[in-house]
Amino acid sequence: MELQFHEADLEFRAEVREFIDIYWPEEARSPRNMASHYPAERSTTERAWFDGLVARGWSVPNWPVEFGGTGWSPTQKFIWDRETAVTETPQMSAFGVTMLGPVLYTWGSRAQKERFLPPIREARVQWCQGYSEPGAGSDLAALNTTAVRDGGRYLVNGTKTWTSGAHVADWMFCLVKTDGKAERLQQGISFLLIDMDSPGIEVRPIKTLGDHHSVNTVTLTDVIVPVDNRVGEENAGWTYAKALLAHERIGVARVAMSRVQLKRLRQVADETGQNGGTLAEDGSFRQKVHALEIDLLGLEMLELRTLAAIESGAAPGPESSILKLKGTEIGQRIGELAVEVSGYYALPFPDPRLLDNEGNIGPDFALSALQGMLFSRSWSIYGGANEIQKNIIAKSVLGL
Ligand SMILES: Cc1cc2nc3c(=O)[nH]c(=O)nc-3n(C[C@H](O)[C@H](O)[C@H](O)COP(=O)(O)OP(=O)(O)OC[C@H]3O[C@@H](n4cnc5c(N)ncnc54)[C@H](O)[C@@H]3O)c2cc1C
Repeated sequence: MELQFHEADLEFRAEVREFIDIYWPEEARSPRNMASHYPAERSTTERAWFDGLVARGWSVPNWPVEFGGTGWSPTQKFIWDRETAVTETPQMSAFGVTMLGPVLYTWGSRAQKERFLPPIREARVQWCQGYSEPGAGSDLAALNTTAVRDGGRYLVNGTKTWTSGAHVADWMFCLVKTDGKAERLQQGISFLLIDMDSPGIEVRPIKTLGDHHSVNTVTLTDVIVPVDNRVGEENAGWTYAKALLAHERIGVARVAMSRVQLKRLRQVADETGQNGGTLAEDGSFRQKVHALEIDLLGLEMLELRTLAAIESGAAPGPESSILKLKGTEIGQRIGELAVEVSGYYALPFPDPRLLDNEGNIGPDFALSALQGMLFSRSWSIYGGANEIQKNIIAKSVLGL
C-alpha cells in the first residue's frame, strides 16, 4: 500500500530525486548496515553530499527558516526522509541537528546561536550526548556529575557512560548537577556545552554485541567549562534536557529506514528458493511481512501527525514516546526476520568450506543481518528505555 500525494508533492518528490541523483549517484549507494557506525572521517563522496545539501539549503529541514530550515510542509519532510532513506544517503548527525539544534535555537543565547548553529548546519562538527551515568539512566535526574561555579567558569567532575560517538566528537552537550541541595533532583541540573579537547577528559570504548565501536565511557576530572557555555538558566537544565529527549525519540523511531529494510527483505525473499518456489511465496513469511507492513503504515501516519503538530508550533509531546516504542519494536522485528531469511548464511562462524574467495559466505544481505539484529536490541534501550515510554504513555496519554 502506498500513501497518496498531491500533484505539488509529486513535483517536490521529483525535485528531491533529481537532487539525490546528482549528489548521491547510483554508484555511491550501498546497503547501509543496520548496526551503528561512527567513522572518524567522512569519505569524499559523503562530504560532497553534505556540501550539496548545505549549498541547496536542505541540510536542516526541521529547523525554523530563520536558522536555516527549509520551511517544508510535514508531507514534504516525510517525502524527503523517505527518498533519502531509500537511496541510503549519508545522514546529518542527529546529535547536532535533531537534538541540540532545537535546544539552542529555543533557549540558547544569541552568542551561542551564532557560534554553534552554523557548524551543525554545515556538518562541520560532531556532537555527543553526555546524559547517562553509571547510576543514572532511566532515573536520569539522579546524575552525579558535578559542576561547581568558580567565577566565570565551572569545574566539572564525574563519569558519563554509553556515550555514543564520544571518540569522534568535537563537543559534548552534558547534564551536570549544579545544586546538590535542591528540593527536587530535577531542580539542580544544568545543561553545559563541553569542548572534548578540554584537559581532564578521558574517553574509553565499551564493547557491545554486534557493534562497531560506538559507545564509550567518558570521565571528566576537573574539566574547566566557561559559564558562557551553559545553555539557559542555571539549575533549569532539566527543561531543556526533556525537550531534547522528545526530539531524539522521533528520530530513534527510524520509520523511513524500516520501510527500506522491509523492501530489501522482500527483494531477498523473491530471490531465495524455498520448497520448489520462492520464500516470498511462503505463507508464514508472507504473514510476518504483511503484519509488519500494516504496523509500519500506522506508524507512518503517526509520524505525519507528529510532524504536522510540530509544524504548527507545538513541541513534540507524548506521541514521540509512541513513535519510539512502536518504531523500535518494528525495527527489531525486521532485524529478526532478516536473520531468519538469511538462515545459516547469517552465522558469525560459518563452515570455512562455504566461504567465497573474499572470505564471505552467502549473499551480501546476510553478511550484516546478524550484526544488525544484535545491535537493534539497543534501540529499545537508548533514547529512554521502552518501559519508560510505556510509563509516559500510561500517564500522559491514557491518564492512568
Ligand atoms: C547502544 C547505546 C547507545 C547509547 N547512547 C547514549 C548516548 O549517546 N548518550 C547517553 O547519555 N546515553 C546513551 N545510552 C544510554 C541509554 O540512554 C540508557 O542505557 C537508558 O536510558 C537506560 O538506562 P540504564 O542503562 O541505566 O538502565 P536502567 O535505567 O538501569 O534500566 C534497566 C531496566 O529497568 C527498566 N526500568 C528502569 N526504570 C523503570 C521504571 N520506572 N519502570 C519500568 N521499568 C523500568 C528499564 O526499562 C530497563 O529495562 C545508550 C545506550 C545504548 C545501549
